[in-house]
Amino acid sequence: MEAKSDIRFTRKLIERLAKAYNVVVLTGAGISAASGIPTFRGKDGLWNKFNPQELASVDAFMRNPELVWEWYNWRRQLIRDVQPNLGHYALVDMEAYFPEFYIITQNVDNLHQLAGSRNVIELHGNIMRNKCFDCGKPYAGEIRLEKKEIPRCPECGGLIRPDVVWFGEFLPEEAIRKAQEVSTAAEVFFSIGTSSTVEPAASLPYLAKGNGAYLVEINPEETPLSSVADETLRYPADQVLPLLVIALERIRGRAKKN
Ligand code: NAD
Ligand code: ZN
Repeated sequence: MEAKSDIRFTRKLIERLAKAYNVVVLTGAGISAASGIPTFRGKDGLWNKFNPQELASVDAFMRNPELVWEWYNWRRQLIRDVQPNLGHYALVDMEAYFPEFYIITQNVDNLHQLAGSRNVIELHGNIMRNKCFDCGKPYAGEIRLEKKEIPRCPECGGLIRPDVVWFGEFLPEEAIRKAQEVSTAAEVFFSIGTSSTVEPAASLPYLAKGNGAYLVEINPEETPLSSVADETLRYPADQVLPLLVIALERIRGRAKKN
């Protein structure tokens, strides 16, 4: 049965994809919206109920680490209870069609990895991991707040914190370097489910386009990137991406790499 939909891809995009060697996807919270994880901005965003800027920061952690951990444990639980959606799975399938395929994600939810994507560049860390606030060493294990005490680093005694990038912090150097490198080389660049307002991730599509990439945005709402994109698909990612995989199967099926 053919699914009913108004979603259409232009001939230009199909032609670009048919011969592309290098494809890069930048994802934001919107790709996980269909899994039930609220976005920060946009309607229904977490933003409306909490102010992440007051919780996801070094200052907040220094002021009140228990409160920050309470919020992160709540978000962790939320994420543990959900599954990747058709958008994540379609990106796993897309990997098979291009010799070079990278996902650069601003998400910390681990859903691309859980779905099975291999080349994932995490710009903002991963909410499922912990590290030491002082020396940065990874720390395995749950943070149980019933004990009323946040664990300390066995190496240096620093407080354990989530391994995510907070407001005002630098991004992991290697991740941003790699993200810039693959964006520069991209022939087709997809910006999916991101409000395109958080730097330096927001600059990556410009870097790609400046170096010749065909720029495609997938987002039901308009963003600052919309007017710059060569093509905008204003639909949810979990509806667009499975159709894109069907299109790829048609145009590249026989050339599929193993
Ligand atoms: P954002 O919340 O700023 O923007 C989300 C965007 O997704 C909006 O433009 C919205 O229109 C769009 N969107 C909503 N539903 C969609 C759908 N079904 N398909 C496609 N697009 C959809 O998110 P962001 O740009 O990723 O911004 C930033 C910060 O929020 C990041 O630092 C990230 O770490 C953090 N964050 C992560 C998660 C997560 O890991 N799932 C969730 C919330 C926030
Ligand atoms: Zn330490």
